[in-house]
Amino acid sequence: MNHDIPIKCTRCRHACMESEWLDVPSKRFGGCTEKTCPRCGCRSYFDMTPQIAWCWASGLIEIGDTVPENNEAGDGAIVIAEGPKSALRGRLEAMARSGHDGRLLVPGVPEAETQSDAAGALGAWLSWCALGNGRRSSYGVTFATMKAIDDAPLSTTVQIGPTDI
Ligand SMILES: [Zn+2]
Repeated sequence: MNHDIPIKCTRCRHACMESEWLDVPSKRFGGCTEKTCPRCGCRSYFDMTPQIAWCWASGLIEIGDTVPENNEAGDGAIVIAEGPKSALRGRLEAMARSGHDGRLLVPGVPEAETQSDAAGALGAWLSWCALGNGRRSSYGVTFATMKAIDDAPLSTTVQIGPTDI
């Protein structure tokens, strides 16, 4: 099955589906074809497939296409950000803390002693991240902000959406 993806040219920013890019003979590899932008001929694009990032009560951040079910402990994933595949991980790596094993963590949550401390750390971090929402430098990544953080313990699934500023 041909899996088409939404893409955006890195040079002229033309947004379309990957299948709309042209196949042209490769200058570098004889006998091969390359995909090029139908507008400007550029050969590189951003993968604009929408993805979601969520975190667990432990502070662990994960990225995927859909939010997972509750884990074995019954904890729900909390949606923290969404954005195009090409940008989401990079933004999270810039904003989150990297564990020694390369995992991404919400700053302040793993070492929080109480659930409300953890929720407070998450809320503060999200508010800070959300300052970049809508800016060019965030490349379409939008962080959620938490309302009524005290009423939303980390052990329950909280659907939080971007708030209008
Ligand atoms: Zn282009």
